[in-house]
Amino acid sequence: MINSFFNPVKELFRGLYITAKNSLKDNVTLLYPEKKKNMNKFFRGKIQYIKENCIKCKLCQRVCPSKNTIQIDKYYSINYAQCIFCGNCVEYCPRQALILTPNYELASENKNDLIFKEELI
Ligand code: SF4
Ligand code: SF4
Repeated sequence: MINSFFNPVKELFRGLYITAKNSLKDNVTLLYPEKKKNMNKFFRGKIQYIKENCIKCKLCQRVCPSKNTIQIDKYYSINYAQCIFCGNCVEYCPRQALILTPNYELASENKNDLIFKEELI
């Protein structure tokens, strides 16, 4: 360690060797957003709400560990700024009214844009 610290030429060539070796490998990053990653079937992304299946039992709300993330009154709403994507609501829903999708594009500059809302009445 001390030897390599005092041998800058050797370190320079070592660095060049590592760069050259890795430049021959495939890229590990994508040119997002032009290219997007296909998520596998176990990925927990944005939740799809199927209003027709929902019986308003509020079980999803009760099993959600992030309090107040799901609101059910005049609207069914999920606040993605608070959701931790644990999947509990989807797993416990007795009517398959919630589905986890592979959509991970949720970034926003405005927190209000992260609240999904669907009118229930
Ligand atoms: S658990 Fe399912 S059916 Fe019950 S309120 Fe939630 S989404 Fe609707
Ligand atoms: S995924 Fe988890 S945190 Fe998000 S709304 Fe469902 S239960 Fe709550």
